[in-house]
Amino acid sequence: MKKNDTFEVIIKDMGINGEGIGKYEGMTFFVKDAVVGDRILAGVTKLKKGYGYARLIEVLEPSEFRVEPICAISRQCGGCQIQNVSYAKQLELKQKKVWNNLSRIGGVAPETLDKVMEPIVGMEEPFRYRNKAQFPVGTDREGNTVFGFYAARSHQVIPVEDCYLGVEENAQILNCIKSYMDACGVKPYNEETGKGRLRHILIRKGFTSGEIMVCLVVNGESLPEVSRLIESLKDIKGMRSISLNVNTENTNVILGQETKLLWGERTITDCIHRMSETSLGIFESIGQGVDFMISARSFYQVNPIQTEKLYSIALDYAGLTGEEVVWDLYCGIGTITLFLAGEAKQVYGVEIVPEAIEDARKNAAANHIENAEFYVGRAEEVVPRWMEQEQSERRHPDVIVVDPPRKGLNEVCVETILEAAPKRIVYVSCDSATLARDLKLFLQQEYELKRVRPVDQFCHSMHVEVVCCLHRVNS
Ligand code: SAH
Repeated sequence: MKKNDTFEVIIKDMGINGEGIGKYEGMTFFVKDAVVGDRILAGVTKLKKGYGYARLIEVLEPSEFRVEPICAISRQCGGCQIQNVSYAKQLELKQKKVWNNLSRIGGVAPETLDKVMEPIVGMEEPFRYRNKAQFPVGTDREGNTVFGFYAARSHQVIPVEDCYLGVEENAQILNCIKSYMDACGVKPYNEETGKGRLRHILIRKGFTSGEIMVCLVVNGESLPEVSRLIESLKDIKGMRSISLNVNTENTNVILGQETKLLWGERTITDCIHRMSETSLGIFESIGQGVDFMISARSFYQVNPIQTEKLYSIALDYAGLTGEEVVWDLYCGIGTITLFLAGEAKQVYGVEIVPEAIEDARKNAAANHIENAEFYVGRAEEVVPRWMEQEQSERRHPDVIVVDPPRKGLNEVCVETILEAAPKRIVYVSCDSATLARDLKLFLQQEYELKRVRPVDQFCHSMHVEVVCCLHRVNS
């Protein structure tokens, strides 16, 4: 076989990035946009030893799991890898992805997995769930200003009228900004020349409060005639915060260091409720919930509807009675920490970003939570220091919760946790491969895997969040 050869193949499986997988003449082919169960005509794009990549030329016989994506540009945009797969099948694929990683990378026995793995928590309505959108500003071929998404693996901006994962207000906000740019001659930033003003538009919405934040990322300190823009944006229902972020660096990091408030408040609020699952698998809110103030730069889970379920599962797994000391490592703005505080004796949060800890402390005060303390630093450095200190007795953890970024836990962090020997470890993960790698280290010591539950935070992508719980043997 050679490049551009065409062949017919039945897609038997799907890969970790949502690509279809099929076999042809003993070779495994990965085909983007093909769905498991499809019979397709494919064209070879790249050949390697024993495997290759192909593009989907034509669907000859569609899979029973294939659906028409509601977004017209889902194939070009890198965001939704599997919008063409029915939602029920998406959930099944993600459950399987976690199972496979825990088995292959984590070395967990299949019988154990079958016993401890609970069914993935899906959404009732898997669209319009994102509370945050970041639109790059670019120019189309005719020289018009466009907002959209970067095409997969490139920095070309594909214009987007409306993204169905985001909130409806996004389109209205972008319209206002476009009119202002056209009227005042504000040009989109061009990465190659370093010229042009507006780089990105960051929009956030608090789902429970209805409050909206717009942050304009600017190549410079200001925008001309910005009051005209503010006038039109501030009338949008829910508008609460309009700010300008300065980013003059030649970088693909979206936000710069400095954020200037142009109008309204620096933060918006959102409330996370404690949920309980009914016997029918429906999550219902119990209790008042915790309010969070969110600023432009802080990390906050992007799917607030699923976040309530995720944190509630984490809290159930922590098994708190009100007597425990709990450490929450990688705590961000204290979301999980403050959630835990309601059911623990004392909680300690650790986070590397100082502004996030500032927000965490403010959030604790605003919710009148007095049994939560926060520390800035790397988890792998702060925690060993705690262990050596005099008060280590008082701080000694009964339960440790971790929620690291995709790269997972640092080795020193794992060692320190093992040394602290808590009764339970609750691991919240956004990457089941690194989760599996880390779990293996705990399972080789005195811990047993008790419960695992994937949560679909990122519908239509192959990403999946997982919560799991380890118990220390004999404690
Ligand atoms: N638990 C929070 C945040 C999870 S995201 C929530 O659910 O909202 C992971 C967090 O880990 C980020 O806030 C990131 O800034 C932080 N982080 C990254 N590396 C870290 C490290 N070495 N030590 C402590 N925190 C770290």
